[in-house]
Amino acid sequence: MTQQDEAPKNPETDDPEPESDAEPKKERVLHTRIPAVLESELKTLAKSLRVPLSNLVRTILEDAVNIADRATGQLEDRLERAAKSVHGERERMRDRVKRPDPLADVLAFQDVTVARATRCAKCETEIAAGERASLAVPAHPGDPQRIVCADCLTKREGD
Ligand SMILES: [Zn+2]
Repeated sequence: MTQQDEAPKNPETDDPEPESDAEPKKERVLHTRIPAVLESELKTLAKSLRVPLSNLVRTILEDAVNIADRATGQLEDRLERAAKSVHGERERMRDRVKRPDPLADVLAFQDVTVARATRCAKCETEIAAGERASLAVPAHPGDPQRIVCADCLTKREGD
């Protein structure tokens, strides 16, 4: 069975770029209303981190959606909370936005049992002692080894 893209053009949602397999990552622009206080908070944060405002917002949204994925069905609630917590999470956001993928340069992952409570190098989720996780072995000797939670490793393999 062949599928043909012959959907009639809808003038209201006119999309200049038709669906195409050649474009794996389709990006959209969202317009939304946010409180003025939040806007200025975001702008201040973006400025202090020296990153584009849109990058910051995207990171926050991705964070919120990740969390919402685990607690299905409360997306809006989570988004609102994530936005509100921007102020308190400045430090963490700075890391999330500026830090390159902490797993970009990993040679191998090894299954381990965590002996002492730690945090995932990627998502910073707490990993309790006794939990299964992965040890990220760096490609360059001398670089630090890191512990990665099972969720992050799964996502990675799904890429
Ligand atoms: Zn993780």
